[in-house]
Amino acid sequence: MTTTTLTSEAAGLPDVAALSRLAGALFATLPDGSASPAFPGAGAPDSIDLRETVSPQPQAAPAGETGAVRAPRAGGIASGVPEAYAAALPSALPTSSHPKEPQAGGRPASYYFVDEASHPVSKRHEDVAVPEDRVSAQSFGLPGQDTLKALLSNLTSSRPGTTELSGSRDEAGGYYFVHPSQVQAHESRRGAPQTQARSAPGGFDVQAVRKDFPILQERINGKPLVWLDNAATTHKPRQVIERLSHFYEHENSNIHRAAHELAARATDAYEGARSTVARFLGAASADEIIFVRGATEGINLVAKSWGVKHIGAGDEIIVSHLEHHANIVPWQQLAAEKGARLRVIPVDDSGQILLDEYRKLLNPRTRLVAVTQVSNALGTITPVQEIVALAKAVGARTLVDGAQSVSHLRVNVQALGADFFVFSGHKVFAPTGIGVVYGRSEVLEETPPWQGGGNMIADVTFERTLFQPPPARFEAGTGNIADAAGLGAALDYLQALGLENVAKYEHDLLDYATHGLSRIPGLRLVGTALHKTSVLSFVLPGHTTEDIGHALNEEGIAVRSGHHCAQPILRRFGLEATVRPSLAFYNTCDEIDHLVAVVRRIARR
Ligand code: PMP
Repeated sequence: MTTTTLTSEAAGLPDVAALSRLAGALFATLPDGSASPAFPGAGAPDSIDLRETVSPQPQAAPAGETGAVRAPRAGGIASGVPEAYAAALPSALPTSSHPKEPQAGGRPASYYFVDEASHPVSKRHEDVAVPEDRVSAQSFGLPGQDTLKALLSNLTSSRPGTTELSGSRDEAGGYYFVHPSQVQAHESRRGAPQTQARSAPGGFDVQAVRKDFPILQERINGKPLVWLDNAATTHKPRQVIERLSHFYEHENSNIHRAAHELAARATDAYEGARSTVARFLGAASADEIIFVRGATEGINLVAKSWGVKHIGAGDEIIVSHLEHHANIVPWQQLAAEKGARLRVIPVDDSGQILLDEYRKLLNPRTRLVAVTQVSNALGTITPVQEIVALAKAVGARTLVDGAQSVSHLRVNVQALGADFFVFSGHKVFAPTGIGVVYGRSEVLEETPPWQGGGNMIADVTFERTLFQPPPARFEAGTGNIADAAGLGAALDYLQALGLENVAKYEHDLLDYATHGLSRIPGLRLVGTALHKTSVLSFVLPGHTTEDIGHALNEEGIAVRSGHHCAQPILRRFGLEATVRPSLAFYNTCDEIDHLVAVVRRIARR
């Protein structure tokens, strides 16, 4: 980096031209490198050493450097960060996590500065000193490409759902503007598709959000990656990736067991994540949060601890027809072992649970009702609150499988009233290998441990063992400490975006995609419930789901094809497999257009 030394004017201040160049350089450090036309220095920050030019406190120049403005060095702050801003960074900021070198081409790395007072993420992270050079709050601060596009298109075009007529956008039939009669059937079922997903001014800036996810820049078969396999797993924002690095660089230790500094840091990271999960779920206490590997392990924990103690011969366990195998097999195994009975709530042709049929299944022998909040195969949002309330009325315990819900809907376990709630970190932008069982404290008290070993004991002799209270009682052995911290970072990230914003954006995107796919001749959408989120299962007669999956992959589009570990519900619809694009908040209408265009091409073959 070349250094430009600015000559001071009378009071030691830089002149107007220098300030202008400085402001230009500062603008160039903003997201997208967005330069202000008012500042000619913009776009050429590599010609100015920012450390030297923005010092709020010019020092007297040493002999031989007459008139030069010198800035005091802030030890450890990355080069390229204006010190006026660097001073505002939290003192606990781990300097080693910041890029120190200019990026390729000589440009300094871009930094994003977040108003601490108005940005809950940075506050929450103070104690774990996560790097702040990130964009989590930025999506609502600056207009993104999409916002500008939407503003421009407002000036030039009509939108779906309006009464005006205009032509289809492309040869493949990507629809932005269609005749009202074409959308009528769809509208009557789900309501008109909204265009806010494309990004409403002042709304959800998907392009800014996408910058947080490095993997979205990958190319597959020479094409930009279009990740529509979010129900299988989600991608991780930089904030989560950095949190993991930070743990291994500065905190790594086993927890709870030593008097040294790193053990204290690791324990803080792990227990801090537990508190974050408790807040995220609206739990009454962090002691109600048990860390496990994922939803599957969570359900097995409940079946093999609470279930083994409380389910007996002749008892009944109710699940729904929508369940993932993870919420069927452990109950089947338990029922077989105990002589209990597994009963199944049927669904209607749209894939929604039939509440009246459920009511008929409930009786005094019902011990447990275990249902999913969102179906992974169809996307149905089930009426879990009613299901839980009805179960309680007959004295049954309840488990809600939140594996597919927590990344799309705000969950409050106390409002839900469920006794157990499970989810997997990797489906909510956190690492694999970490998940959660929420257990209502009263119910955890009546639940024995399921694995024995370290961590979960209070005292051991060869004659007997005394156990810790929950949640430690259920966490035998060394837990997944770093990934728990990563989960905390992911939930903070999602909270900062705002689940309501996410839900609204995804709702619009789902409508947009549903409309696009449903217009492809021959395509059958499976799962058409009124209350749905983020999943579009379909089949295309004449084409195997596997072939469609491969053809989409050729175009860079990742979807799941197969039975989605939910064979009973697919068979309910006479199918062994479907193609399943599934959405997250970082997906865009352009990606949906691409999906629809490729599927349309396949349908023509
Ligand atoms: N339940 C549902 C509804 C799911 O979608 C999944 C994952 N597909 C699971 C449970 C199991 O999650 P995991 O494999 O992360 O344990």
